[in-house]
Amino acid sequence: MAVPAFPYHSRVTSVRATAIELGLDAVVVTHPANVRYLSGFVGTAGALVIDRQRWTLIVDFRYLTFGRELQSAQDELTSMNVLLAERSEDETIVDLLRSTGAQRIGIEAASMSVARFNRLSTALAAGAPTPLNADAPCPVLVAGDRIVERSRIIKDTMEIETIRRAGLLLSRVARALMPDVVRAGRREVDVATDIDRAMREAGFDRPAFETIVASGPQSALPHARPTARVLHVGDPVLLDFGGVYDGYCVDLTRTVQLGPSTAEFRRMFAAVAAAHDAAIGAVRPGVLTADIDYAARQVLEARGLGDAFGHGTGHGLGLEVHEEPRISKRDPGRPPTAVECGMVFTIEPGAYVPGFGGVRLEDDVLVTADGCEVLTQVPNEIG
Ligand code: ZN
Ligand code: ZN
Repeated sequence: MAVPAFPYHSRVTSVRATAIELGLDAVVVTHPANVRYLSGFVGTAGALVIDRQRWTLIVDFRYLTFGRELQSAQDELTSMNVLLAERSEDETIVDLLRSTGAQRIGIEAASMSVARFNRLSTALAAGAPTPLNADAPCPVLVAGDRIVERSRIIKDTMEIETIRRAGLLLSRVARALMPDVVRAGRREVDVATDIDRAMREAGFDRPAFETIVASGPQSALPHARPTARVLHVGDPVLLDFGGVYDGYCVDLTRTVQLGPSTAEFRRMFAAVAAAHDAAIGAVRPGVLTADIDYAARQVLEARGLGDAFGHGTGHGLGLEVHEEPRISKRDPGRPPTAVECGMVFTIEPGAYVPGFGGVRLEDDVLVTADGCEVLTQVPNEIG
């Protein structure tokens, strides 16, 4: 495995600042995308403990060499420690937390299982001083909310470079689909296989999600899976695919109609394209994510397709294909999110008419000081 460069120290510093703001002495990071973000570590197991002074990557024997490589690559600038989990990862986490004397310990409530939470809590309590000889209270685990995600929502220079490159590569894949890959007589599954192969050949590690090829009435299902259905002249065909490049996800959708286009399709396509352009035009620092969603939604409503647009306008992209920020209607239960420079998200309005079909157009944008940079450069009409 290649050892990446050193953006990690500044990311850890940012997460530590969040922890201090939340009154936490330490944070246990177990969500794999967050562990990777803060250490470069990629594996099926591994945890990171960040306290006020240190940050420690805990790995098992399978990953010790990789962990040590990461450590030595970073030594000059930082002080990441690597610990081998000799018994279990959880026992090592508990021993480490005890040795730091941390009292309020943040965990990732959105991803840690209740079983693991209980196991860690019980082990910490078992090792705590009894009330009679206590010189310190029992450490507590605190359910943390987006402790790492608050930093991840703004991409740093290294991430932006990676995603920008990925956007270019995905655009190339999209531009090469017509007329040979997507044509009448082929099955949806075969088109999907070709798209996945093209992404690998373009340099992607893997598809970011199961490629969607939805033809005819199937295209009215926003998350249709490719089937053995054969594409026919006159079908709308919705193609939604994305790749993971050096860990980072990009995501793109285009919709074509095979053969001469019909008035109904052109009407839907024009409405969705106008909604897409309106949303992209609304992106700039300071605007609320709900206002970007509204910009798309009101265009479709004005054209009688408000009810045909049943999902949010976009989602954040990064180490995960669906991350913050969500570009969707205002949620009264959550504080509004204002757009900031360095956010990366999709703009993907759609309209779906059962029995007829659907149209969706999706591009990826990076928020810049004066608006946004569209990272996927593909004509709306690839047919
Ligand atoms: Zn998509
Ligand atoms: Zn998407």
